[in-house]
Amino acid sequence: RDADVFARLPDGGTVSFGQLFAGAERMAAALSAQGVAPGDRVAVKVAKTVEAIQLYLGTVMAGGVFLPLNTAYTAAEVAYFVRDAGPAVVVCDPARQAETEGIADDATVLTLDASGQGSLRDLADAKTGFSPVQRGPGDLAAILYTSGTTGRSKGAMLSHDNLSSNALTLRDLWRFTAADVLIHALPIFHTHGLFVATNVALVAGSQIVFLPGFDASAILDAMPEATALMGVPTFYTRLLADPRLTRDRAANMRLFISGSAPLLVETHEQWEARTGHRILERYGMTETNMSTSNPYDGERRAGTVGFPLPGVEARVMREGEEVPQGEIGVLEVRGPNVFQGYWQMPDKTAEELRPDGWFITGDLARIDADGYVTIVGREKDLIITGGFNVYPKEVEALIDELQDVSESAVIGVPHPDFGEAVLAVVVPKTSNLEPDTVREKLAGQLAKFKQPKRIILVEELPRNTMGKVQKKALREEYGKAFD
Ligand code: ATP
Ligand code: MG
Repeated sequence: RDADVFARLPDGGTVSFGQLFAGAERMAAALSAQGVAPGDRVAVKVAKTVEAIQLYLGTVMAGGVFLPLNTAYTAAEVAYFVRDAGPAVVVCDPARQAETEGIADDATVLTLDASGQGSLRDLADAKTGFSPVQRGPGDLAAILYTSGTTGRSKGAMLSHDNLSSNALTLRDLWRFTAADVLIHALPIFHTHGLFVATNVALVAGSQIVFLPGFDASAILDAMPEATALMGVPTFYTRLLADPRLTRDRAANMRLFISGSAPLLVETHEQWEARTGHRILERYGMTETNMSTSNPYDGERRAGTVGFPLPGVEARVMREGEEVPQGEIGVLEVRGPNVFQGYWQMPDKTAEELRPDGWFITGDLARIDADGYVTIVGREKDLIITGGFNVYPKEVEALIDELQDVSESAVIGVPHPDFGEAVLAVVVPKTSNLEPDTVREKLAGQLAKFKQPKRIILVEELPRNTMGKVQKKALREEYGKAFD
């Protein structure tokens, strides 16, 4: 690979590291001239472009706090986030300028479109250079809103040290170097694409194949000359559905990484059978960056998220105490990766971040005798039926074993006798599947209280852009099933 090139663009063009940083400095100069002072938020809802990466880098160079917003947010959602964050500058697509000005209070509204043009770019192009504002390790670099899977999104305050420590750890653990070419098809408003993919490539001096979004053909085209891919599980299932994915095509690749949502064991196995590569699954969240990862050299165990990262501690707690080895409880993590708290939510911060630095993730997990962590679901998705706990993942895993099942989501819905009842939403792989087949399979293997009281067949599960199943939406949809 050409050592100078940072990004290869879809149109065949390239962006060198020099160009990347010169552009970022001009963005910093432009933001600073617009009044962005150290600690000021720069809220950004723009398409994925190299200029948007320069805006991220330029914001932190100017001493500002980068605050990216999901491009799918509606005007009402943007209004909430902008009012919550009180940014000095809001950057949006030119088509949204008037609407954004209506909600931006005293913030300056600048624009950047899907081809990297707009008023911000014009201001930046008129600048020459910029000397980065000095910031300390504990100063904020970003506020990232959580995905809103379990409730209203919260703004996680991340310091420079939170981001840099994690990027350096992942670079070393996953062996990223200047010889790597990373296929970058993830959105850059979320921790996965912005911090894991972009920061790791930057600290390693790796090249990225810059794709504006997921595109199976573009990824398969890039694969013969690439070395790594980071994706959410749906990337892998969609690529598996494409016959052009072969061992030959993946021959130059050294690493496939998955995260943001659970990777099915079946996907892991199919991927290995087809490409000869074992996907490396890792686990993290907006508040902590990455916390655990399967090993680079050792066994990448399907269905687990591996070990705590170097420098990160993990423990499984129940009722204020660590559970006996191997049992399920709430996962807590501590380390330089753990955020500084939720933006303007001191009570929420106090509930989830202990004074001694342990962060209560809200994910249910188990750590096996070899130290591998398995995420068994979210505490908020735990079903309590007739006083008994049901872990949805245990039921889902059995349903998914059926030949005619593609995937499933098990939820708890209100029930007059049991408080909550177990309900399974199942996506059939073939038209042969009958709810009774699912019922029979589970009858022999699960205690009665864990067996779904209703099985609903659907064409697909509701997912957000990060491939996360929206159980909240399912609970709303089927909430009256037992009325
Ligand atoms: P909110 O906190 O607003 O409800 P969210 O938790 O989905 O939304 P993110 O921070 O984007 O927001 O996602 C982190 C969550 O994603 C983790 O807490 C975990 O539940 C899930 N997750 C991430 N990686 C994995 C993985 N490899 N396996 C299983 N779950 C994962
Ligand atoms: Mg969360």
